[in-house]
This record gives sequence, C-alpha cells and structure tokens, in this order.
Amino acid sequence: MVSKAYEEAIADLSKLLSEKGGLDEVAAAKIKQITKELQGEVVGTANGNVKNDAFDPIHRLNSGFLSFKSHKYEKNPALYGELAKGQSPKFLVFACSDSRVCPSHILDFQPGEAFSVRNIANMVPPYDKTKFSGTGAAIEYAVVHLKVENIVVIGHSCCGGIKGLMSIPDDGSTSSDFIENWVKICDPARSKVKSVLSCAEFADQCNNCEKEAVNVSLGNLLTYPFVREAVANKTLALKGAHYDFVHGAFELWNLDISLSPTISFK
Ligand SMILES: [Zn+2]
Repeated sequence: MVSKAYEEAIADLSKLLSEKGGLDEVAAAKIKQITKELQGEVVGTANGNVKNDAFDPIHRLNSGFLSFKSHKYEKNPALYGELAKGQSPKFLVFACSDSRVCPSHILDFQPGEAFSVRNIANMVPPYDKTKFSGTGAAIEYAVVHLKVENIVVIGHSCCGGIKGLMSIPDDGSTSSDFIENWVKICDPARSKVKSVLSCAEFADQCNNCEKEAVNVSLGNLLTYPFVREAVANKTLALKGAHYDFVHGAFELWNLDISLSPTISFK
C-alpha cells in the first residue's frame, strides 16, 4: 500500500513536470548554482546568506553546523563524551512546531537535557495505539525507558494552531487534510473558552485557549497507563507552561492548578 502511494506520488510529480516545461530550466539553473557554491565560488556571510542575497539552504546548514561544532561541540568534550554513551534527560517537553518557540532556545536546554516532541499547537493526544502511535511511542520511551522526572507542555502566544482550532465552526466542519482534525484534540479547550469568554475579543479567546489547551493535554497525558503509574508513584510530575514571545514572559503551573501560575518569569 505504501509503495503504491509512493509510486502514484512520483507519477503525479512527473506529470506536473511534463506539463510545466519551464520547470526543467529552473531546476537546471538551481543545480548549476548549487554546484558553483559547493566549489566555493560564492562566499557566505555570517548569517548564512550568500552575498547576492539569494538564500542558500545548503550554505546555511553547513555554516550552522560548523559554527556549532567550533563554538560548542569542540569546546565541551566532557559533555559530548558523556552524551556519546547515552542520555538521561530530566524533561520530556511538548512544544509547538512554530519556528519561534524552540524549547532549547527559550529555556536554554543543553544537549541531553530535554527529550522533545514538537507538533502543531504542542498537543498531547489521548492514548490511542493506532491513531496516535508516534506520540505514544515518544511518551512511552521517555517515561518507561528514559524515566524522565517531568513532562512539560509548553503553549505559546500567537499560536496559529490554536487560532485554527478556535476558527473551526460550531458544526465541526473542516477544510484541511490534517490540521483541523489534529487540533481538534483540544476541542474541550475551544468549547470552554467559547462559553466562558463568549463576549471576549477573538485574540483574547485565542490567548486563553493557548493555556486551556495545555490543560487538556495534561489531562490526556493521564490516559497513558505508564504516565498514570509514574505520577501515582511520585516519580513523574506534569507541568503546563505558556511562553509569551510578545512580552518576553514564561508562566509555569502544575497539573492540579487551573490557570494561576505558580511561577512567572519576566
Ligand atoms: Zn503554535
């Protein structure tokens, strides 16, 4: 089945290419440019862009890795030597796929500190062996094998996924292939915000839903038997968080406390 779908996708792509004759020339020009760059004919700038201002992904990736290697990897052989033997992170972090909210950046996690799952709107789906096996595998590995001591679900300001959830009409109809069905995982948050804050501005409703959705995810974590067991044994704590990149603030709360933050960093 998978192979057939793959072959169909290739056939569709070939058809598209044959219909758009100009594309071949574009592809040839790009290959020529990449070849030149690989031969060192184009000099990169510090931020990875080439001098003619055309963004070059290969150069960006190459310069990024070399910068990491010289500034971090080679400066901390003890850390990377230990990490070569294994990992024992204290955290399992759920964060949004949004490019502005990388947990390693905003919380200064070093390699080995946080096992991470990133998806649209940082959602934890309920236990389901077939529908959500990817997320289930990550949680199982982190909790059962790595024995993380904390699971932190981090929502964030201006989350497009939450905006999408809040925009789903009341009849539940959807128009995307995946996105809306995914964010519906936190539909209880949408319903709560729509009823409690029915008169609020849409932006305020979304901001509130960003936090309520985190609470739905914390509840969903408890549908996993190994999470429940670890929480009951007090070897695992569940925490919700919200990162506001508009105001530069980070709120953190425990599972059993509604929306009032236990700690606030500003
Ligand atoms: Zn987001």
